Amino acid sequence: MAKKKTKGKPAKKAKRSPRKKQKTKKAGSKSAAKEICVVCAKRKKGYPVTDDAYIVAVRSLKEKLNMKTGNVLVVCEECVPKYKEKRARFEKYLAIHAFFALAGFLLALYLSPSLNGFLGGSAFALFVLVLSLLTYFPGAEIEEEK
Ligand SMILES: [Zn+2]
Repeated sequence: MAKKKTKGKPAKKAKRSPRKKQKTKKAGSKSAAKEICVVCAKRKKGYPVTDDAYIVAVRSLKEKLNMKTGNVLVVCEECVPKYKEKRARFEKYLAIHAFFALAGFLLALYLSPSLNGFLGGSAFALFVLVLSLLTYFPGAEIEEEK
């Protein structure tokens, strides 16, 4: 007498019916994005900030870290004078840093005309350029009436 073992236990499947539909907003619906002023950090409409290498890098980094905010960076009307000041400051610093980066690079090559000199000079130049990011301020497309 062989009893048939019913193996197939009706395993209780904890089915969680996903009633809460996750709203996955995909990039593309620009109307849903919040416009944030880069100067006063308020939600305002304004001139769009141009995507430069730095912004693109930060954005892709945030996407990888799942920290994407979906905010659109702008410069609002009231902050245009302040913005210009900050941007001008950054551009000035960038020019100074670029000069020192180049000078340091050439000096390293002059002092040590070898691969080490080249690498050292490159490292120094990169370091100086990274320093300039401390004063980084994005550019914006501001239509000026002249
Ligand atoms: Zn503002």
